[in-house]
Amino acid sequence: MGRSFRVVILGGGTASGYAASEFVKHGLNPGDLCVISQEMVAPYERPALSKGYLLAKEPARLPAFHTCVGVGEQSHPAKWFQEKGIELVLGTRVTQANVRDKTLLTAAGETISYSILIVATGARVLKLDEFGVTGADAKNVCYLRDIKDATYLVDAMAECREKGGKAVVIGGGYIGMECAAALHGNRIPVTMVFPEDYCMPRLFTPEIARYYEDYYMKKGIQFRKGNVLSSFECDESDKVTAVILKDGSRIDADIVVVGIGIRPNVDLFEGQLMLEKGGIKVNGKMQSVSNASVYAVGDVATFPMPMYSDVRRLEHVDHARKSAAHAVQAILMGNKVDNYDYLPYFYSRVFTLSWQFYGDNVGDSVLFGDQIVGKFGAFWVHNGRLVGAFLEGGSKVEYAALAKAARERPHVKDISMLKKQGLDFALTV
Ligand code: FAD
Ligand code: NDP
Repeated sequence: MGRSFRVVILGGGTASGYAASEFVKHGLNPGDLCVISQEMVAPYERPALSKGYLLAKEPARLPAFHTCVGVGEQSHPAKWFQEKGIELVLGTRVTQANVRDKTLLTAAGETISYSILIVATGARVLKLDEFGVTGADAKNVCYLRDIKDATYLVDAMAECREKGGKAVVIGGGYIGMECAAALHGNRIPVTMVFPEDYCMPRLFTPEIARYYEDYYMKKGIQFRKGNVLSSFECDESDKVTAVILKDGSRIDADIVVVGIGIRPNVDLFEGQLMLEKGGIKVNGKMQSVSNASVYAVGDVATFPMPMYSDVRRLEHVDHARKSAAHAVQAILMGNKVDNYDYLPYFYSRVFTLSWQFYGDNVGDSVLFGDQIVGKFGAFWVHNGRLVGAFLEGGSKVEYAALAKAARERPHVKDISMLKKQGLDFALTV
């Protein structure tokens, strides 16, 4: 017989840490809650891994960024879980889940039973070998998802810098942009390679992207856009020495950092729970639509968005935190809790730049502000209403105004006026 708990949180990442904290805020009996994680450390704020953790000077290190420092609360190391009577099972991978029996089987062979399960398994990185690129398992090809990857990357950067080497970054999304900035900060020359015409194409417009690309180029970062990797050249010690692109060109590389997207970790539940858009389909309480004892939060949850009459899966930390807290409130208070009504919020910080985005980037985009002074933004207008807002270099008050506007979705009568009014439009909503 294995252990049995009222609630088990499967996964020990950001959403897990916030769910545990929410339970504690509402009062918890010792032994009620168990958190199982394959990572060796207590839940932490994953965004730090591509920012503070990679800094050349005074890098962030645990225990400074355990959850819930991201919202201005205390860092909760393993000792905190112990003090709160939470069973924190680290370094333990769950290999099987049986939602009918309400049991989980760990790699160590233990069966753990639950009354309620919160799935917070996040995602795994997509690897280049899944695209048929040979040599992708070379030692100096780095990915970034967890603290182990981040530590490996820090060591690989140090080795590269010592020998005066160069970096190639594959992918022009979040990881690509943030890691390119980090490599540059570690005095490593960088070339970015991605298939699209401009960086961050899922969110940025070409005009927004041009600003960040120009900024990076002024720092000396090179771009090979509209191009993909076809193979690696490796030496006899199994290290990449160059990348070969589809157009036949060759770029010297002493370190390669890959950020080509993720896949949610839902394999354990395939055939058992209803899945949609790659995630576990949940209702407005973050409760699986096919099994009332299971909740899903963070990157693995596909949830209703009443604001857009749609169901979506999001891969960002604000949603991880809020969906986790919401699930716990729903578990504890049932129908007294409103349905989750999430306003998408994404952000990034690179070099001295910092942007925030709220809402939905659909419809016509309108650029405003001044890119020369570095204070600019964009609105998205769909069906005559403002639905999304982006701002670089804003103040707290301005970002709050953007969030309010994206939530209230005011009517826009005249797009040319909106362009002229710019930020003032949001400030008066
Ligand atoms: P995760 O934080 O990934 O946690 C999942 C946990 O489950 C992990 O501990 C994992 O090991 C564990 N697990 C998985 N399967 C099993 C299993 N079978 N058994 C046991 N344990 C298991 N978002 C932003 O909005 N802003 C940012 O600046 C930002 N920066 C980021 C930087 C990096 C480097 C990364 C990788 C992501 C970043 N994100 C950012 C995204 C954000 O961190 C994620 O959306 C968030 O972490 C999702 O939380 P989660 O708890 O769902 O998943
Ligand atoms: P993203 O999805 O942001 O970006 C991946 C990029 O790589 C996309 O532009 C994608 O293009 C491109 N791509 C796909 N396949 C290839 C290929 N074979 N070769 C080259 N490029 C390719 O994922 P990331 O890996 O950047 O980020 C991983 C996760 O971490 C995401 O969930 C992200 O949200 C999160 N994250 C968030 C941050 C933030 O919010 N500030 C910071 C860091 C990470 P296409 O779109 O055409 O598929």
